[in-house]
Amino acid sequence: MNSKQKFYADAIVVGSGMGGMSAACMMAKNGLKVTVLEAAHVPGGCSSSYKRKGYIFESGATTLVGFDEHQPLKRLEDELGIELQKTELNPSMCVHLDGEQITRYKNDEKWIQEASEKFGNPKGQRKFWELAKNVSDTVWRVSGKNVFFPPQNITDWLRLPFQNNPADAPVLRFGFSSVLDVMKSCGVNTPRFRRFVDEQLMITAQSEADDTPFLFGAAGLTYTNYSNYYVYGGLLRMIEQLQEWLESKGSEVKTRRKVVHIEPASDGLYKVITEKGEEYYAPVVISNLPVWNMAEITSPEIQPWFKEKSQKYKKAWGAITMGVVHKDTFADDMPLHHQIHFEEGDALPMAGARSVFVSMSAKDDTERAKKGLRTLNVSCHTPTAKWFSMNGQYDDNKAHVQASILEHLEQKLPGFNKKDVELAFAATPVTWQNWVYRKEGRVGGIPQSMNRSLLDWTPAQAPFSGLFLCGDTVYPGQGIPGVTLSGINVYYRVKNYLNKTKIKATF
Ligand SMILES: Cc1cc2nc3c(=O)[nH]c(=O)nc-3n(C[C@H](O)[C@H](O)[C@H](O)COP(=O)(O)OP(=O)(O)OC[C@H]3O[C@@H](n4cnc5c(N)ncnc54)[C@H](O)[C@@H]3O)c2cc1C
Repeated sequence: MNSKQKFYADAIVVGSGMGGMSAACMMAKNGLKVTVLEAAHVPGGCSSSYKRKGYIFESGATTLVGFDEHQPLKRLEDELGIELQKTELNPSMCVHLDGEQITRYKNDEKWIQEASEKFGNPKGQRKFWELAKNVSDTVWRVSGKNVFFPPQNITDWLRLPFQNNPADAPVLRFGFSSVLDVMKSCGVNTPRFRRFVDEQLMITAQSEADDTPFLFGAAGLTYTNYSNYYVYGGLLRMIEQLQEWLESKGSEVKTRRKVVHIEPASDGLYKVITEKGEEYYAPVVISNLPVWNMAEITSPEIQPWFKEKSQKYKKAWGAITMGVVHKDTFADDMPLHHQIHFEEGDALPMAGARSVFVSMSAKDDTERAKKGLRTLNVSCHTPTAKWFSMNGQYDDNKAHVQASILEHLEQKLPGFNKKDVELAFAATPVTWQNWVYRKEGRVGGIPQSMNRSLLDWTPAQAPFSGLFLCGDTVYPGQGIPGVTLSGINVYYRVKNYLNKTKIKATF
């Protein structure tokens, strides 16, 4: 490899997570030559897949939504004129709580009936879920329209009344009420329903009912009431489809290109240097990295801004994940996604999690596991820092958590038996830092909080000419739909910037 090689593009995207890929595709669609630089050997970050011992596991995300009307992946498909390969799951999820199985039906009425049967108080449950679905529908519709949100200048503020229907404004009050407040007002705040809601929110909002604004919580809680999809062969297939599309437009995704430095260079260009010593130049750089990572790779004039952001968002979760291969002893009609609650008061050693999330490969997905076997992706939350300071106890602690997860699965996941496990391995925040390079293995974005207003989210444009952001630590936050929206939104910021500065796409 020639260490002095120089490359030019109209825009450089650092990181090929779903946020970065969406941004790159939007720009390529609109005529820009984009280079995506990805540190790992495959693209996709936390929404990708990897092979181990001939099986395919998901790197992080396993549930896939966002393809319904007004939702970001549908918008991306429409913009690019493609249909991503996917198969709908219905029902998408089963929650195992205190010996009962709660099926998260997509159909609103069926779900309200199920919630009423399992938690009692049909009137209260109806009130809660109808409100949640209404708020969620509005959130998707309104967030899709407001690509310049949060407002960063006077023009953005002035756009708001013209782009929005005043009839949608009342929903904003739910930015100031927590999910718990709404549960109380609907009369459904029983301890058991609270446990259910808390764990459902942890996988979507990274926060519990008392600290999640209902505005976001409503969308998180009702995500099973929209179309949920499965990708045969793993989510990497979806990313590869986007990569192929990008390349067909003359843009490129370069893997094994870890960016180690970003600085403004001459002639209004940025210089982006990779670990291999290659230099990439472009008038626009979009970072798809978490804000915590950026201070380490930016030049001194940019660094303080990212340091400040990192200080502001100190709290974030890590994940314990497990890949498991199990004999196919599962019922034919078993849903693929399961949230498994532990007994009340029980928590996973080291991680402290009170539930695990299990996603199984489809019976006939012989790409992920050969016939007669299934792969299982298991995940739960954990604080991160402790995993980096275990003084020689790391391997033992990891093995302890792994054994405990397998034990819980044997007790609570129908069809699961430790003797039928063919392969099992765990990953901690240390692993996560190594494979998606996320600082301290912090994943899943910034947890929702009642202390942060909507306007307080990190916006898509950094206060440095030509430097932009997308991904799960900027608005609107985590999840594949969230980061896809961030990728769509950042394109409009870039377009505006290029128009204003009259910088021409020249490369
Ligand atoms: C265990 C787990 C389960 C989840 N489950 C779900 C789910 O079921 N459904 C859902 O919608 N969401 C889920 N999420 C959340 C979702 O996966 C993420 O929020 C989303 O994929 C993040 O996308 P992103 O584009 O922000 O960043 P990432 O996916 O983190 O992508 C960033 C990319 O940048 C690369 N990179 C980092 N540093 C550098 C560098 N210096 N140079 C070049 N490249 C670099 C990384 O390798 C990575 O590919 C889950 C997350 C985790 C961790």
